Amino acid sequence: EAALFIVATPIGNLADIGVRALYVLSLVDRIAAEDTRNTQHMLTRYDIDKPVLAVHEHNEHEAAARVIEHLRAGERVAYVSDAGTPGISDPGARLVDAVRAANLPVIPLPGASAVTTALSVAGAWAQTFTFIGFLPTKARQRDDAIRALASSEPALVFYEAPHRVVDTVRALAQGLGAERKILIARELTKLHEALHVCPLAEGPAFLEADPNRQRGEFVLVVEGRAPDRDGDDAHLHDTLLVTLLDAL
Ligand code: SAM
Repeated sequence: EAALFIVATPIGNLADIGVRALYVLSLVDRIAAEDTRNTQHMLTRYDIDKPVLAVHEHNEHEAAARVIEHLRAGERVAYVSDAGTPGISDPGARLVDAVRAANLPVIPLPGASAVTTALSVAGAWAQTFTFIGFLPTKARQRDDAIRALASSEPALVFYEAPHRVVDTVRALAQGLGAERKILIARELTKLHEALHVCPLAEGPAFLEADPNRQRGEFVLVVEGRAPDRDGDDAHLHDTLLVTLLDAL
């Protein structure tokens, strides 16, 4: 039966593909992909040979129309992004909107994502979190965005590119406070995977101590703002009550 399958693929280690993902990729009539070359490469590694159709930012509209045509013709179509879960700092969401608006089924196939992979090793301080993804690239807008996040109690999860990671960690330390913990997760599931937890203030020096520490792909998880302690709240309420009583 016709359906669009949104299929998560590995974020590095190709062995992380799911059994169901492999099954669906080898069963569908066609695979829509963010980057056809990358996807062909991955499919070759899994021994899957299917027609691949490009769906990326610049042709989203007409590509979605083509996918819908294929689905209406009774085909099963899979969509994959370059790495990880489609729709997570990746294209795919507009295709989902268009296919659902056409009243055709959309089926998720879960799998790797850099955000959940990093969070799985962050620890207890990141149990509640807000996924931010990429910050703006211009310093001014980046700093404004960081300021707007300063009061968040949930931990904050960022994606960052290697050439910006030092500046971003420095800006996070300035905007959020030097004491908060940061997990710097680099090259997850890959050969040079590295995890480091330290106070935000120490992040830039850690990264700068060795150029290799700035290479590859990064997830940054930053501790949220410490919650107001109950005692402080109670104190505030007492003060308010006294003020109100005084006013009577
Ligand atoms: N859709 C992907 C997902 O589900 O995680 C994210 C795609 S986004 C365009 C690429 C960014 O994700 C990278 O710049 C990096 O911040 C993060 N990322 C992807 N793979 C990673 C890995 N193996 N290790 C660390 N970060 C990774």
